[in-house]
Amino acid sequence: MTEASFEERLFGPLVPGRECGACTACCFEITIDDREMRKPPRQTCVHCVAEGCGIYADRPQDCRTWFCAWRRVADLPDHLRPDRSGVLACVVESYAAENPLQRLYLIAQWLGGRPIARSEAADQLLAALRRYGLPVWVGSGDRMSLHFPRQEVGLAVMRGEAPEAAIASEVEGWRRRLPPRSG
Ligand code: SF4
Ligand code: SF4
Repeated sequence: MTEASFEERLFGPLVPGRECGACTACCFEITIDDREMRKPPRQTCVHCVAEGCGIYADRPQDCRTWFCAWRRVADLPDHLRPDRSGVLACVVESYAAENPLQRLYLIAQWLGGRPIARSEAADQLLAALRRYGLPVWVGSGDRMSLHFPRQEVGLAVMRGEAPEAAIASEVEGWRRRLPPRSG
């Protein structure tokens, strides 16, 4: 039996009956560094055709196992499918990152480098992501800004400085549960 991925343990299994349909957002947005194929982020995969994946039956292992949050979180409605909402949410694991809030986090990535905009759909997605107790970032292209925890808490965690008394327990809580740097 294969070990469950972190995203599977966090979000649970795929939502039954929910399919990618016409969405190919991850075939553009994500990095693939698989034995069989490499693709940089924010570049359309060479196998992506009008109907979806042109090599679906033979797609690399990374493509078989990677799913966005919309495929796993049951109460995200249909209109939050990434190609409909313009925002793709997923887990990122990057344990070598210097910033403790960027080692294991959730990101809501605005597709196509679009400017980050407030909308009911985006608010709904971000509220759902905050429930998991991980840092939440919003991204567009290469830019990222911290959404959760709030700014003064995030800055104290990132800088490793002694926080003001009013936020001390919150900062301490984040420091305790964020993973150490490794790799
Ligand atoms: S971004 Fe999500 S819904 Fe869209 S193709 Fe990828 S896994 Fe499917
Ligand atoms: S191989 Fe197929 S599933 Fe994988 S990124 Fe390319 S088009 Fe998407």
